[in-house]
Amino acid sequence: IQWEAQVRRSAQIRRTGGAAVLVTGAAGFVGSHVSLALNKRGDGVVGLDNFNAYYDPSLKRARAALLAQRGVFVVAGDVNDDRLLGKLFDVVPFTHVMHLAAQAGVRYAMENPSSYVQSNVAGLVAMLEACKSANPQPAVVWASSSSVYGLNEKVPFSETDQTDRPASLYAATKKAGEEIAHSYNHIYGLSITGLRFFTVYGPWGRPDMAYFSFTRSILQGKPITSTGSGGRKRGAAPYRIYNLGNTRPVTVPALVEILERHLGRKAKKNIVEMPGNGDVPFTHANISSAQLDFGYKPSTDLETGLWKFVRWYLSYYGYQRGGIYPNFTLLLLLPSS
Ligand code: NAD
Repeated sequence: IQWEAQVRRSAQIRRTGGAAVLVTGAAGFVGSHVSLALNKRGDGVVGLDNFNAYYDPSLKRARAALLAQRGVFVVAGDVNDDRLLGKLFDVVPFTHVMHLAAQAGVRYAMENPSSYVQSNVAGLVAMLEACKSANPQPAVVWASSSSVYGLNEKVPFSETDQTDRPASLYAATKKAGEEIAHSYNHIYGLSITGLRFFTVYGPWGRPDMAYFSFTRSILQGKPITSTGSGGRKRGAAPYRIYNLGNTRPVTVPALVEILERHLGRKAKKNIVEMPGNGDVPFTHANISSAQLDFGYKPSTDLETGLWKFVRWYLSYYGYQRGGIYPNFTLLLLLPSS
C-alpha cells in the first residue's frame, strides 16, 4: 500500500496538459537529469532503476535521494521484471515511457556479455510488452546510441546512413533494439521514438566515460588509458529515429586539452596503437532532423559543458583546481585502422 501511494504521488501531474512519465534508468546519468527536468516542468515522474554496480552505486543512490527530495520516487527494480512493470501500469496510466535503462559502455562486454543482452535486448522487449498491453498505450521514447553507426566512415552521421556494421556488442544490442522497437511500432501501433545519443557528458556523468576517467586520473596523478516486417499493421503510429549530439567532431587530444585547462594541470602524452576494440574513432552528428522536427538546438558548447562537469567533479570528490601532481602520464590508446 505504501509503495502504491508513493508511486501514485510521484506520478501526479502539476501542469495542464502535462504527462505522466515512467523513466527507466532514472538513477543513472541521463535518466536522473531527464527526471528532474520533467518534474520541474510539472510532469508526473516515476523512476525505475536496478541500481546495478556497473559503476559506483553511491552516485546512483545520491541521484535517487535528490530525486526523492523533489518528489520523484525511484522504484528499485529491474526492467525485466514483468510483474513489477504490470503493477506499475496498473497503478498509473502512464502517458509516456522514457526508456533509458541499459547496460552502457563498450569494453565491459568483454567480461560480461550477457548483461548487455539481458538489459538492452530482453529488457527492451519486456518494457515494450508492458507498453503494448497497457491501457492507454504510452508513447515510448528510448535511448539508442550513435554507436549504431559503427564502422561507417562518412561523417557527419545522418539517421538514413547504414547501420549494418556494429563495432561492439553494445552497439549490436542497440541496433537490435532499433529493429525490435520498429517491429513493435509496426505490429502493435506503439508510438516509438529512438534517440541516438552522441557522447553525453556533464555533472553526474558516467565514471566509465573518457572525460570522467581522464579527469579522475589527472587529479590522482595516475596514467590515463583510453581507446582512442511482418505481422498486422495497426494504424499509423509514429516511428522515428533522431540523432542528438555535437555537430562538431571532437578529437581525444582536443578533449584532453580542454580538461587540462579546466583542471589547471598538464598531461604528459603517450600515444599507443590499439587493435580495434569497439570504440569508433570519433563521432560527428548531423542533427538536422531533430532541428527540423522539434527545434533541437544544443545550447551548451563543449568548453562550457566540460567546465560544468569539472566544477561538479572537483566539488563532489573534494579536489582543488590546479595543485600538487606535476607529473602524470597520459596514455592514448588509439584504435588501429
Ligand atoms: P547510466 O548507466 O548512467 O544509466 C543507466 C541506468 O540504468 C543505471 O542507473 C542502471 O543502474 C540502470 N539499469 C541498467 N540495467 C537495468 C535494468 N535491467 N533494469 C533497471 N535498471 C537498469 O547510463 P547513461 O549514460 O545515463 O545512459 C542512459 C541511456 O542512454 C542508456 O540506454 C545508454 O545506452 C544510452 N546512451 C548514453 C550515452 C552517453 O554518452 N551517456 C550515449 C549513447 C547512448
